[in-house]
Amino acid sequence: MIENNEGGDKPKKSILYYYGLTLLVVMLLNALFFPSVMQRKVTEVGYSEFITMVNDDKVTEAAVDYSSQQIMFVAKDGNGADQYFKTGIFPDNGLIERLQSHGVKFGSEIPKQNSTLVNLILTWVVPIFIFILIGQLLSRMLMKKMGGGMGPAMTFGKANAKIYAETETGVTFDDVAGEEESKDALTEIVDFLHNPDKYAAIGAKLPKGALLVGPPGTGKTLLAKAVAGEAHVPFFSISGSEFVEMFVGMGAAKVRDLFKQASEKAPCIVFIDEIDTIGKKRDNGSGLGGNDEREQTLNQLLTEMDGFDGRKGVVILAATNRPESLDAALLRPGRFDRRIPVELPDLSGREAILRVHSKNVKMDMDIDFGAIARATSGASGAELANIVNEAALRAVRMGRSYVKQEDLEESVETVIAGYQRKNAVLSPHEKKVVSYHEIGHALVAAKQSDSAPVTKITIIPRTSGALGYTMQVDEGEKHLMSKEEAQNKIATLTGGRSAEELIFGSITTGAANDIEQATKLARAMITRYGMSREFDMVALETVNNQYLGGDTSLACSADTSAMIDREVVATVKAAHEKAISILKENIDKLHELANYLLEKETITGEEFMSILNR
Ligand code: ADP
Ligand code: MG
Ligand code: ZN
Repeated sequence: MIENNEGGDKPKKSILYYYGLTLLVVMLLNALFFPSVMQRKVTEVGYSEFITMVNDDKVTEAAVDYSSQQIMFVAKDGNGADQYFKTGIFPDNGLIERLQSHGVKFGSEIPKQNSTLVNLILTWVVPIFIFILIGQLLSRMLMKKMGGGMGPAMTFGKANAKIYAETETGVTFDDVAGEEESKDALTEIVDFLHNPDKYAAIGAKLPKGALLVGPPGTGKTLLAKAVAGEAHVPFFSISGSEFVEMFVGMGAAKVRDLFKQASEKAPCIVFIDEIDTIGKKRDNGSGLGGNDEREQTLNQLLTEMDGFDGRKGVVILAATNRPESLDAALLRPGRFDRRIPVELPDLSGREAILRVHSKNVKMDMDIDFGAIARATSGASGAELANIVNEAALRAVRMGRSYVKQEDLEESVETVIAGYQRKNAVLSPHEKKVVSYHEIGHALVAAKQSDSAPVTKITIIPRTSGALGYTMQVDEGEKHLMSKEEAQNKIATLTGGRSAEELIFGSITTGAANDIEQATKLARAMITRYGMSREFDMVALETVNNQYLGGDTSLACSADTSAMIDREVVATVKAAHEKAISILKENIDKLHELANYLLEKETITGEEFMSILNR
């Protein structure tokens, strides 16, 4: 990566000085040229002069100031500008009539300087504005001069955020190991960048943006660079967190700048790291200044994404490990409508990553990478890279010229223990529990007719926080679910917990999501689908808005509500018992499959079926 050498706070300071200086100069100029504004000038005249001015229709406003016993009035001078005057009070009975007949506004208040706002704008805002404009023009000119003569790597250090631009990242897909699915999804973008004409000829538009979603350290940044490297296009990158610490309006300007540069260099990749820092859901509550800035930046990003022509060959990649916190506007079609999961590596993926990072390290001949991979379930690519490096450092400390197996084993301990991670690496026992739990789901599903086939089972922790995952995909599209299918589905959902009970005799918190889903479905069967004998075809619950979350509201009496609860419990209980009996009948397969999954960490539906039908 190319670092920007300019310190982060240097430009910040000079901008502050600049604003301060501007204010000072404007104040001085004001004092010199507009003394009347600094101190309103009032001319004292005789009463007769006042009457003459009224008669000449010069006076526009008048008032009596009782505290000083004087008449204050405003009159037009030769140029038609307002002048302020005062005169003493004189017994004059005809004054009011005279004022009325000459159209003078009068009252008990001293005429206000009616043009204060205009004056303020003229004497303060406009000069400041002009100064800022001049300053920006100057700095832009400077930028242009500096940017022109730079080599293969260009840095743009305007204001605070840095846009890193690399003409050639030098990273390829070979440097990213174990993320085959993500790489597959990205090859199309590489091809598009190679020859955009091919796509334009047929009229196809590629997605403008793709969102890389996954836990920290799984290689999202690396993948983005690899896309640029594979396609041999420039790589512009900026991190979302850099926008946040900037002055108001700077974030939006930066985004504009970024896209301008990118469209000049097209085809190219624009990469926005940590997009969640600017792309958070906009809430209309707290009116804090910081939020405003973030919102402006986000709005500018959205505008730019909508504005530029997708066929030009600018592809925007973004990365986040908090996809659920992103504003929905970012995920709409034409923006980041493609989501590419970058999950933690499985066993073979971890081995591949260890090998990639060992390429330039002198290793013992008989290193067993498989063993290290098995010991690091749940570790990210970044951690594995660190393990290899720690092992090399240890070898040096030991006075050896190459890395031995024991160095790697030792560094697994230091790296994994060194990170205070919540649920990243499962203990061997936990891994076993998760394996049985997932196979429990899969087995119950497979042993019931009418349930969707299992396509993938994994015990690699997911971005969503799940420790394991059993994927079922319906063959073809399904629009109707029969009562039996619904009951089977509930049984499948309870299958995970059932396996835990059966094998370990104790239960864990791991089934929370299953329980929630099972309960929802059981309740819907009774209250919405008319699938209970008790309530027949009576709608007890209505969906408020099926497009907005689909929250429901109960439409029944308290008595009925209690009966529904009992019915829900009975439905789930029956399904749970069914699941347990299915697992009991197939306990050998349960053991066999769970052990297989424990070893492989991810198995396909075919592998699962072939073991089941052996
Ligand atoms: P993220 O952006 O997802 O947080 P990075 O791309 O910054 O992760 O990864 C940090 C480092 O970890 C990379 O520079 C690389 O050395 C290593 N790394 C992470 N994932 C992989 C992977 N799948 N293959 C090879 N190296 C990886
Ligand atoms: Mg990153
Ligand atoms: Zn489960």
